Amino acid sequence: FEALAAVDPDIAGVVTGELERLRGGLQLIASENFTSPAVLAALGSTLSNKYAEGYPGRRYYGGCEVVDRAEEIGIERAKELFGAEHANLQPHSGANANLAAYGAFLSPGDTFLGMALPHGGHLTHGTKVSFSGKWFRAVQYGVDPRTEHIDYDQVRDLAREHRPKLIVAGGSAIPRLIDFAAFRQIADEVGAIFMVDAAHFIGLVAGKAIPSPVPHADVVTFTTHKVLRGPRGGAIVCRAEHATAIDKAAFPMMQGGPLMHAVAAKAVNFRECLQPGYQAYARQVIANAQALTEGLAAEGLRPVAGGTDTHLALLDLRGTGVTGADAEKRCDAAGIVLNKNAIPFDPQPASVASGIRVGSPAITTQGMTEPEMKSIASLIGAAIRDADGSRTAEVAAGVRELVGAHPAYPHPNRPTAHP
Ligand code: PLP
Repeated sequence: FEALAAVDPDIAGVVTGELERLRGGLQLIASENFTSPAVLAALGSTLSNKYAEGYPGRRYYGGCEVVDRAEEIGIERAKELFGAEHANLQPHSGANANLAAYGAFLSPGDTFLGMALPHGGHLTHGTKVSFSGKWFRAVQYGVDPRTEHIDYDQVRDLAREHRPKLIVAGGSAIPRLIDFAAFRQIADEVGAIFMVDAAHFIGLVAGKAIPSPVPHADVVTFTTHKVLRGPRGGAIVCRAEHATAIDKAAFPMMQGGPLMHAVAAKAVNFRECLQPGYQAYARQVIANAQALTEGLAAEGLRPVAGGTDTHLALLDLRGTGVTGADAEKRCDAAGIVLNKNAIPFDPQPASVASGIRVGSPAITTQGMTEPEMKSIASLIGAAIRDADGSRTAEVAAGVRELVGAHPAYPHPNRPTAHP
């Protein structure tokens, strides 16, 4: 950081400004976390300099013998952590990991089945604005309107009707566990590849807090920066029979040179996840999400699907008469960072939305537990009901008290230091 500050005060100011922002508020974005100083050190290393197209021992550049070790170690740790037969750590992001998985199994125009974005799926699961909906024939399933759980009957009916080559499970706003065995059965019935996009919950799988999709799926894609708490990036694990197809799709079909500093940082993160303390963290993430959800329900926010089994909850705000967009703004003004989110069958456009999404990964990394979740729920309730902003200062003071007692990156002169 000293080198950065000496050369570029503007960007050094951005880095410290962002650190202060992280420290100063409650970070409840379900897809964010505070990665460790060890991961940040690998990210800020000279490994960023190296071109290493190809795979360990099979590169298109000389001088890869050192970075090869990082990728080999990372692959071995990923296989151990997830009980997987093969791992690819090269996707630069979750969207890239999905593009690689589709590339391995689909040709342009092929049909696949994915969860609709407004029901909790991800952009890359078949929306028209993404490559996934532009290049493929994406058929979309959703949740049952009564239970707000995935409608497995609909998935089966659509699979029988459209005979997709691939079925993807997973998404960005699914609070409940997914029945991977049910998806596997449907995929087998129609001869489809079964892919799980575990970006959101793979950290809970790594921490053995929820069941793993790995034994059921042909291929599992994920991001490394959410509950998992690693560097921003993507990864894929798959059955050995698909290893060559996945590797060829990641490089050279989809990407050029891998980001070796990010690959090394993923390896560091997997080592951290293999420590027993990480399992306690994953369990606490869920306990906190559940406590927060209960608290928010007591504030008059309705938990979609009746609650959560994971790190995130989706809250229907219609009972409060406040839109998701207004709730996001009011919370933001008081230092509570969360996002508006469409709820299933939302009468509002996505830019307004009837819900908010909250997640517990970052606040759990800060060491907060159930009593703090109660306080956070009442602060959110107060912020949302505060139409004229008259209580913003009071809520912000409550936020400062909480984050002051559980600071993120607590060392004042070392922006990369961790709790
Ligand atoms: N898949 C899911 C389920 C996600 O939630 C996300 C991001 O939030 C992605 C893929 C895309 O990841 P990235 O933003 O790294 O491309």
